[in-house]
Parts: sequence; C-alpha cells; structure tokens
Amino acid sequence: MDLTLTGEEEDFRRRLRAWLHDTLPGLPPEPPADDWPARRAYDCAWQRALHDAGYAGLHWPADAGGRGATPTQHLIFIEETERAGAPYVGANFVGLLHAGPTIAAEGTTAQRARWLPPILRGEEIWCQGFSEPDAGSDLASLRTRAVRDGDSYVITGSKIWTSHAEVADWCELLVRTDPAAPRHRGISWIALPMNAPGVTVRPLRTLAGTTEFAEVFLDEVRVPATHRVGPENDGWRVSMVTLSYERGTAFAGEVVACRRTLARLARTARANGRWDDAVLRRRLGRLHAEFTALWRLVQWNVSEAAHAARTGGDGVPGAGGSVFKLRYSQARQELYEAAADVLGPESLDARQEWTAQRLSSLSYTIAAGTSQIQRNIIAERILGLPKGR
Ligand SMILES: Cc1cc2nc3c(=O)[nH]c(=O)nc-3n(C[C@H](O)[C@H](O)[C@H](O)COP(=O)(O)OP(=O)(O)OC[C@H]3O[C@@H](n4cnc5c(N)ncnc54)[C@H](O)[C@@H]3O)c2cc1C
Repeated sequence: MDLTLTGEEEDFRRRLRAWLHDTLPGLPPEPPADDWPARRAYDCAWQRALHDAGYAGLHWPADAGGRGATPTQHLIFIEETERAGAPYVGANFVGLLHAGPTIAAEGTTAQRARWLPPILRGEEIWCQGFSEPDAGSDLASLRTRAVRDGDSYVITGSKIWTSHAEVADWCELLVRTDPAAPRHRGISWIALPMNAPGVTVRPLRTLAGTTEFAEVFLDEVRVPATHRVGPENDGWRVSMVTLSYERGTAFAGEVVACRRTLARLARTARANGRWDDAVLRRRLGRLHAEFTALWRLVQWNVSEAAHAARTGGDGVPGAGGSVFKLRYSQARQELYEAAADVLGPESLDARQEWTAQRLSSLSYTIAAGTSQIQRNIIAERILGLPKGR
C-alpha cells in the first residue's frame, strides 16, 4: 500500500477543498433529526450538488456512471468533506454505499441504466430489506417468499429494522424463491419499489427517540421478474457482495467524523477542567490512536479491493471489513462513553447532541451484523478456524 499522494491527487484535494469552501456557506440549515421528508429533501439536494460538481459516485466504476476515481481520491474526498463539516450521506447511505455498488457489480446493463443514475443524482432513495423478525444474524433463515407468476414475483412476508424505509423509493430485498432448496441456495436479491400495492411501512422508535427504521409488511406484492439482480436462487452470493461493501467501506467517512468529535471533546475537557484528570487524558489518547489505526485499516481495505480489481479480481472489499466493523463499532461506543465522563451531569440531558449520539452509538455493535457475527466471520474466513455449526 503506497500512501504517498501524486501531484494529480494533491490537485484533486485542492480543487475539492476550494469547492467545499465556496459551496458550504450557501447550504440551508440541517432539518431536525426526526423530520424524515425534510431530511430526504436535504440529503438529496446535497447529493445533487455533489453530482453537478462532478463528485458523485467518485469510487463507482466509470461504466456504472461513477467517476472511476482512484481509491486515494475516494479517501481524500472522505477526509475533505468531513474536515469541512459537509453534510453526511444521510438517507442516501444504502443507495450510494451498498445497493448501488451491488447493482454495478451484479446487475445487467439495463438494470445499471435504470437504477444507478437516479442514485447518483440524489433522485431515488434506497433502503435495505434483509433482516426479518427471526432472521437477523441468521440471515439464511429468512422466510419472506417470492412466488413466480408469469413475468412477476408475488412477494409475501415481513422485514424489520429497515432504515429509511419511510422515505425510500426502492428496497434491496432478500426473498426466498425456492423453499425446498438448502437455506443458502433458495434466496434471490430483488429491487422492490416501495410504492407497490401491498407494501406497508410501520416506523419504529429508537432509544434515541427517532424513527430511523421501520417494520415493512409485504402482502402479495407483485414485482416484475426483471427486478431480480443476479440469477434466481443465487441471492445469498449477491447479498455477500452487498454486505462486503456495507462492512468494508460504507462506514469509512464516520471514522474521520469520530476523529473530529474526539478533537472537540478534548477542547471541551480543556475548557471545563476535566483535562487535569490523567486517566481521562490517557483514555482520549488511546481513542485517538484507535481511530488513527481504523483510518489506516480503511485505507488498507480500499487499496486491497482496488488492487484486486486491477489484477483481475472482482474489486469487492474482502473479509477484512469485518475486522474494521468490529473494532469501529466498539470504539464509537467508547468515544461517547468518554464524552459522558467529560461532560458529567450535563450529559444526562436528553436534548444534548452528545447524549443523542451516545444513545445511537449503542446500535453500532448490532447494525450491519453484530460483533459476535463479525468475530465468527474473522474466525472462519480470516483465521481459517473450523465453522461452529
Ligand atoms: C440502527 C440499526 C439499523 C439497522 N438497519 C437495518 C436495515 O436497514 N436493514 C436491515 O435489513 N437490517 C437492519 N438492521 C438489523 C441488523 O442487521 C440486525 O439487528 C442484526 O443483524 C442482528 O440481528 P437480530 O437483531 O435479529 O439479532 P439476533 O440474530 O436475534 O441476535 C441476538 C444475539 O445473538 C447473537 N448471535 C446470533 N447468532 C449468533 C452466532 N451464530 N454466533 C454468535 N452469536 C450469535 C447476536 O450476535 C446477538 O448478540 C439494523 C439494526 C440496527 C440496530
């Protein structure tokens, strides 16, 4: 892995920094966390601005509508947007960071042409319908059924914890297309239009008080068979591509954001006197080292995937993403625990941004696969230990 920037990359950083400097002051204020239609409009407008300036889908391949940028440019983009305090990817998370890349890798030419440009232009929002009430960690036991009827599938079942379902146009949906096949072999990956008759979304309130995710009920929803991405019954393999992107690269920007938060926390500690506590200072120092190491891991994952693509591989991030996901989600919780210690009783105020962040940080060791599941993946796929079952 060579981390030295070329002249072209330095130039890319300079141009991006200048564009952010000129653009960010004109942005409207962020809408409240729980006003999802307003958030959708805000996130889409930001995505549109990135698109029009040539910064949308930087890391997507050029033949999928992306910029075909080098992995280093992608990482510079993450660093610079975070450093400038640019809006977070928000409701575009699934579309940009894992549904889009999955369609780019596995979709037909027609599917890429239909679904990828609206994601890049911030016109269509995607959500992820993988988890079910009895199929979260044990994803292969999912029961939502899709029965072939002529040129369509008729889908019945339910999904849970579907982030952004309230405002999504499309859902990357895993369904069982062959109930008689072994559990991993009878699954398909389907693009579900969220406005199809028979789709009901019921928001769920989180510990932090927001309705970030929802239950989704599917009652004989008819979807054209052309919406299936990848071969019928090969959805398990396609879903592994999705999860590799989700765990491998999707959280990269948040690492830089955590480093900024940590710096802010250190400033707060200096201002309120908590900095005098040597134990707390050591904790903050250790977290600084931790997030620096995590950023290196992001660089390594991205550069490994790019190297694989250059040498004939598929370019999909590898199982190293599980190492990142495991440690990142724990470090994020430790960061907000440290914040509570810096702020003291003030941190009990539920209206405080720190408090909301602390509550939501608890979900990170569950979302996108629990820490226990990441450990299983590391044990089996990286360390080569025998499967537990
Ligand atoms: C904030 C948030 C957003 C989410 N967004 C989405 C989304 O948009 N779309 C979506 O599809 N899902 C989403 N999820 C769901 C998430 O992927 C699941 O919650 C997660 O996979 C765990 O599944 P589960 O909740 O069914 O827990 P379970 O699978 O019931 O697990 C319960 C406990 O048992 C442990 N466990 C289970 N099996 C094993 C095993 N084999 N070895 C060791 N330990 C095991 C788990 O680690 C966990 O601690 C989201 C979750 C959260 C918290």
